[in-house]
Amino acid sequence: MKYSVGVDLGGTNIVAGLVNEDGKILKKSRFKTRVMEGFDKVVSRMAMAVKEVATDVAQQDIIGVGIGSPGSIESDKGIVYVSPNFPDWINVPLGETLSDKLDGMKVKIGNDANVITLAEYWKGAGKGKDNIVCLTLGTGIGSGVVLNGKLYTGSNGLAPELGHMSITENGPICGCGQIGCLEALASATAIIRRTKELLSSSHSDFRSSLRRKYRTSPDEIEAKDVFEADREGDPIARQVIDEAIKYLAIGIKNIINIFNPQVVILTGGMANAGNRLLIPLREEVKRRVIPSFVNTYEILPGELGDNAGIIGGAYLVSSYDERK
Ligand SMILES: [Zn+2]
Repeated sequence: MKYSVGVDLGGTNIVAGLVNEDGKILKKSRFKTRVMEGFDKVVSRMAMAVKEVATDVAQQDIIGVGIGSPGSIESDKGIVYVSPNFPDWINVPLGETLSDKLDGMKVKIGNDANVITLAEYWKGAGKGKDNIVCLTLGTGIGSGVVLNGKLYTGSNGLAPELGHMSITENGPICGCGQIGCLEALASATAIIRRTKELLSSSHSDFRSSLRRKYRTSPDEIEAKDVFEADREGDPIARQVIDEAIKYLAIGIKNIINIFNPQVVILTGGMANAGNRLLIPLREEVKRRVIPSFVNTYEILPGELGDNAGIIGGAYLVSSYDERK
């Protein structure tokens, strides 16, 4: 049996896991990232996390380490160009630096959404399918695409950025600086922004359970508060969520037209909304796709949850064939 180590590198935690060839996590370790201590210290803690899970296995049985990292990644070179979670990391050689700290062990890195997509492709909701698209619905909207059984990352490794497809000509400004991106209309951040907008505007005569929190501590309103208010029949919450679902449906309709995937997988915090999201979303997408596409795809929640980063990292390094 061979093993790989998957590392989920987040802004708060580094989580490493020893994964066997069947995609089963055998052991996990967790360290604080402590971004402010700088690149070298963070990579040292990543090395500690890897060593902690790898101790029980002979080194020659470990294929390597696969990392899912937020940001723009040059996967072949192991370089993080920029990352929103690590403002000081510009063109840092993450792969090489970690490899040096692990006695030359093979290290591969990928964008975190791409790595999650690989995990769902290998062992989750995309298992057995060759063409899948995955959207991570959280603070932003990350994305990954597997085409004909291979992760598609474009000619510079920058694709896909499905969260930044343009949905409306006008609309809120996105984190990327553009206007009307899917992420600016249908992410958790977008839901919070739109809720505050409605609470502050002409709808003030609507009763809303969100209003008290909006008055006392508006910065503490989270997307899950909006989903909770919606379950209680709150009209503002309902409007906000219905709007987000409509925009997400437009995005997914475009995705289906471009890729003709067998499955579109939704992961991340917002996907926990379950049927409140999925049922109207499936109806809206079906209404919008070209008729010949109906019944060619499924829209499914991810199956691996918080373990996707580790499982996908392990797959990334074990499926990578050295190109000389
Ligand atoms: Zn954008």
